[in-house]
Amino acid sequence: MSHNSSLIAALTLAAGLGSTSAAAQQPGRYSFRLQSKGMEVLEAGVEAMGGRDAIGRAGAARIRARLTVHNLGQGLRPDAEAPPNPPLIMALTYDHASGTAVYDMYQPDTATQAVARIVLSPADTFFYNRAANRVQGVTEPDAIQIILRAMHYPPAFLLDAEAHAASVRWLGRSSTEETSHDVITYVDDIGQQIALYFDARNDLLARAEVIEAHPQFGDHTVGVTFADYRPVGSLRLPYKVRSLTAGVPYTEAEFLEVDLGVEVPRDLLTRPSGADSGPPITGNHPMPNLDATELGDGIYAIFNATGGYNVMFVDLGESVFVIEPVISPEVTRAVVNEIRQTVPGKPIGYVAMTHHHFDHSGGLLGFMTEGATIVANRGDADFIREVARAPRTLDGESVPDSPPTIEIVSGKRTYGSGSRTVELYQVGPSPHVDELLIAYIPSLELMYVADVYNYQGQVAPAGEGTLALADKIEELGLEVSRIIPTHGEAATGEQFWDSVRLAREANR
Ligand SMILES: [Zn+2]
Repeated sequence: MSHNSSLIAALTLAAGLGSTSAAAQQPGRYSFRLQSKGMEVLEAGVEAMGGRDAIGRAGAARIRARLTVHNLGQGLRPDAEAPPNPPLIMALTYDHASGTAVYDMYQPDTATQAVARIVLSPADTFFYNRAANRVQGVTEPDAIQIILRAMHYPPAFLLDAEAHAASVRWLGRSSTEETSHDVITYVDDIGQQIALYFDARNDLLARAEVIEAHPQFGDHTVGVTFADYRPVGSLRLPYKVRSLTAGVPYTEAEFLEVDLGVEVPRDLLTRPSGADSGPPITGNHPMPNLDATELGDGIYAIFNATGGYNVMFVDLGESVFVIEPVISPEVTRAVVNEIRQTVPGKPIGYVAMTHHHFDHSGGLLGFMTEGATIVANRGDADFIREVARAPRTLDGESVPDSPPTIEIVSGKRTYGSGSRTVELYQVGPSPHVDELLIAYIPSLELMYVADVYNYQGQVAPAGEGTLALADKIEELGLEVSRIIPTHGEAATGEQFWDSVRLAREANR
């Protein structure tokens, strides 16, 4: 018992507010009542979905669904809607008891061979891209497991909640004008508190939700809604599953076919032999042991800050200029730490954000609390202020004391001097995003570019974004000998122009 609670007890009694009821003298009793009421709601949900035996058998299943994934945080402007990708066919083979799931993604028109596969098992978690014949380990399996399970297979929630019965609590009834839900929570294997909303009319699971910290949104909810329940054998399953992040649509799945009692084929659980192996997918986590490479006097790159993600920084003398505020607060800490070790004793003066997309702005907050001035596009300024203002009670991230200082690049802007001069250019609009900054270091003829050019080890015909960039580089008259893309590997100027030439010839 802490000092505070005994103090509070003493004050409460002194103020005559103390209760002498039996319940007050048995502190465990209310929680127990909430647990047993929670279990009642859960068991009603299990019955509504088909009963314990049916749900137990549903722990091994194969589901085919049409899946639309919205490119959350990848719109043309910060306030533009997240553009949907073309729909895919997804086949999920799932086994609850062994914690195994295989997700195969197919193009709708060529439904015979998966283009990509995600395999989750206790022994290994990996992503296989068939077109590139490349396998990448996934080092953030917990998060992915939760996300994928959440998106597509509702009986998993009921089985999971039953397995964590001691943590089940009744939260109460949540009502709007149209709906009324009985809400319980439980805590899963990795410590996430999950809320389950059961429709008060029929006890069917209508929504599952977690509250999380998001690099840009701050405190927010990630929810999955289940609708259009239909009978499948003795079960009832929802055929429409939508997920929302902070209220914004993220995925929409429409079930096409459900087969129960299907086992996960063992041979799918091992990495395909003969596939190349790519860098691990580290999600929002940094790679271990970041290492800065000196490219020229006072000019550095951190290659692979997260899997295949590159950052640059320049020692301007008084302070350090960083290009790209990375993907998450955790990666910012690792990058700032590496900068301090490389260039000791200098503050982070500036961070240039090429554009607002979530994988380029997730680490902004950390640079703000370092006191860095944000160098950005005009259309991204409000978004940057919102990131600074977002409520953050969940992740313990510190929030800047004052609004961020933002310097806008609408044409060209220059920082530093001599061989350490950094030029920023506005090269939008691009098919990728309305406003886009590139950084250029004249002394090295070096360009840092996000997304519109990614070098992956071989020259391929340039896409629309690269072609638009090439036109701008010609217009600006920049000599480019070396390119560091945010994603991928460093490339030479020849490799860049070769891919541009290939595409221009093909378009002629
Ligand atoms: Zn982007």
